[in-house]
This record gives sequence, C-alpha cells and structure tokens, in this order.
Amino acid sequence: MLPHRDFSRRMNSRYALFGHPIAHSLSPLIHAQFAKQLGIAMEYVAIDVAPDELTQALQAFADSGGSGGNVTIPHKQAAFALCASLSDRAQRAGSVNTLLRGASGWHGDNTDGIGLLRDLSARHGYDLLGRRVLLLGAGGAAAGVAPALLDAGVRELVIVNRTLSNSIALANRIADVGRMHAHEWSELAALGKFEVIINATSAARALQSLSLPSSLASPQTLAVDIGYGDAANDFLNWAKGAGCEARVDGLGMLLEQAAESFLLWHEKRPQTDPVFAGLRALIASR
Ligand code: NAP
Repeated sequence: MLPHRDFSRRMNSRYALFGHPIAHSLSPLIHAQFAKQLGIAMEYVAIDVAPDELTQALQAFADSGGSGGNVTIPHKQAAFALCASLSDRAQRAGSVNTLLRGASGWHGDNTDGIGLLRDLSARHGYDLLGRRVLLLGAGGAAAGVAPALLDAGVRELVIVNRTLSNSIALANRIADVGRMHAHEWSELAALGKFEVIINATSAARALQSLSLPSSLASPQTLAVDIGYGDAANDFLNWAKGAGCEARVDGLGMLLEQAAESFLLWHEKRPQTDPVFAGLRALIASR
C-alpha cells in the first residue's frame, strides 16, 4: 500500500542504501539504470553504516536533503523501529527495506515479499496457489517474504530456522493459524516433501553450508535461493543433487523489490527485464 499522498516526492533527489557491509551491492547500479530508463534525475549511493549507528546516519541523510532509501543487512528491524509510519506489509513483516521521507519522519515499507512474488510469477510463470512451501530462515528477508507467500495462497508455510525461537516469533507475529508452522532444523528429515523450498538464510555469506536432507525435494520441487551469484551456489547445487528441475536465484527478486521501491519514490514503475539481462551478464563475467 502506498503512503498517504502528502508525502513529498522530490524528483531531482537523493536516495541511498544503508547496510553493513555494502561495498558489493548492485542496488546503486540498478537504480541508476531505472532512473535513466524513466528520465528521472536522482542520486543513489551506498552508505556503510555500523550496526549501532543507523539512527544518526538516517538523521544526517534527512538533514542533507535525503528523500528516501533502502535498508539491508543488518538494519531492517532497526529501521522498522524508528519509522514514523509504516505500510501494512512492513507492519506484518516487522521489518523495513524501503524508506520515504515525509513531513513527520521516515515512512517504512517492505518490498521484499512482493519482489519475490513478482519474480516467480511474472518472470518465471510460477503460480504459488495451493503449494506446500518450506521457508528456510527467519531474519529480515524471511519476515518480508512470509506474509507475501500467504497472500499468494500457499496451502502450508513451514518455517525452519537455525534458532527456533526466531521462527516461532515470526510465526506468532504473522499469526496465520492453521497454514503456518515453525519447526526445528533437526526435524527437517521428518517434514516430508515440499513443492517449493526457499532459502532465505545468510549462511552463504558466512561461507557456511546448510545441512539439508534430499527427502525434502522431488523433481517437481521449485528451489529458490534469494541470494544470487556465488551466494546461491551452495543451496542450488544441493537442490540439483536432490533432483529439483526448477531452480531460481535471487537476482530477479533483487530487481523486483528495487522496482517496487522506485515506484514508491517516483510513482513510476521501471521495466526490469532489460536490467535483469545486463546484470546476469555482469555477474557471469565476474
Ligand atoms: P538476517 O536478517 O541477518 O537473517 C539471517 C538468517 O539466516 C537468520 O534466519 C539466521 O538464523 C540464518 N542463518 C545465518 N547463518 C546461518 C547458518 N550458518 N545456518 C543456518 N541459518 C543461518 O538476513 P536477511 O536480511 O534475512 O537476509 C538473508 C539473505 O537473503 C542474505 O543473504 C541476503 O543477501 C538475501 N536477501 C536477498 C534479497 C533479494 O532481493 N534477492 C533481499 C533480501 C535479502 P538465526 O535466526 O539462527 O540467526
């Protein structure tokens, strides 16, 4: 849901991504291409902010004329807490990845879930309706994705996370009794097969492998890693070994969540397919 219309939009304006670490983010490149495509003059820079410095960094950015931005690891929950207003989807997620400056402070939104849905449905032609889905992880990204999966009509959403209390907290917050369950990692082998398995953990960033039984998957299972490039390899290789014929990484989601942020800021939706092709080639050349 878009924020109330009295939020000011300054077309020749300043946007930024706040995260830590941030050096290899593709977001500045993506937003520069969106802006060029739509003829919008905007600046979008990556700002590395230590975990305990988000409040000061956002205030300094607002004071210098910052109009909006994105928030990534590890700041999504902290950004949620300091927003003056929130979209419905940010409220359900308990996590914010998109900011828009308004008269009374920051308005927070979460475009991760809609980004994943648009990638799976529009780019890959996959319908989630009635599917049994396993979501690995319960961090900021999983929190954004889980409500969107439920809205898309999945039959069952099982959340398995390294720390059980975090997945229970996520399930309790979303409170979709009957369709959503949290389980221990050690229970994975007893959970049966899933039609969709989504890896929303950051294990690969820490160069750690996930321990997953092949009994979770069948050749018809769609395997999705919301990471991209090398970060998606470990899980997607597991999925290939487990027989999953359809495997998707998170590059499309990255673009679609960015396009949704761009829409919030400028009320114009960029075309993502041309940018997707260019980024895929860029990643392959690295
Ligand atoms: P986060 O808030 O830091 O959460 C990390 C999650 O990964 C937690 O559930 C954590 O479990 C789990 N985890 C970390 N190390 C693990 C390990 N060794 N084994 C099993 N689980 C482990 O991060 P996030 O914002 O959710 O992001 C997660 C990933 O999604 C990142 O790689 C990020 O780049 C990617 N992402 C992609 C997009 C996109 O547009 N494509 C958007 C957002 C995020 P605990 O609760 O036990 O700590």
